[in-house]
Amino acid sequence: MKEHALIKKAVDIFFPAICYACRENPPENSRTLCASCREKLPFIEGNLCPACGGVNDGIFLICPKCLKEEPRPWKNACAVMNYDGKAMELIKNLKYNKASFLARLLGEMAAEKWMKNKIHADCVVPIPLHWTRMLKRGYNQSELVASVFSKITGIPMLKLLKRSKMTPKQAFLSREQRKKNLSAAFNIAKKKIYYFKIRRYIAS
Ligand SMILES: [Zn+2]
Ligand SMILES: [Zn+2]
Repeated sequence: MKEHALIKKAVDIFFPAICYACRENPPENSRTLCASCREKLPFIEGNLCPACGGVNDGIFLICPKCLKEEPRPWKNACAVMNYDGKAMELIKNLKYNKASFLARLLGEMAAEKWMKNKIHADCVVPIPLHWTRMLKRGYNQSELVASVFSKITGIPMLKLLKRSKMTPKQAFLSREQRKKNLSAAFNIAKKKIYYFKIRRYIAS
């Protein structure tokens, strides 16, 4: 890395001068996003559906889409953005283009949303990567996001899950394919099984 690039990287870490999403404009008020990116991101506003974490514009507790689905095994889902447009671009960059710096932005946004909705939890559980993918990527994006989330909210991060099989890349599959892809992909780490009996947990 050339000297000026190294200095720029150091300055970026300590004083982020550019937006974390577009890497072009200055961020809005000492935060990580510029005004234009904040506007383009498909944030979920209004009443939340506790089954999918998306907007609930119906009259029932869960949204019209979830009413047609099988009941979910969790009590409360909370999503920051729709998996669409600019949000999809950010997630793909974090996962496949070595943009690990985006974990800070996504962790901050998740923490802000979580605190706004006042949902209680005892721990945050990152989704593990298969070791071969971890070796290739160099980091687990879920763990990075969970760690930022944990620092801001004070909810401890516990690595309770183990990946039991290698699965195709999620971002390139449909919702149905993603569901099928993940079934039986994880185990609970044996020594930590007792946590599941006593705790309310968040999977990040
Ligand atoms: Zn931007
Ligand atoms: Zn829903």
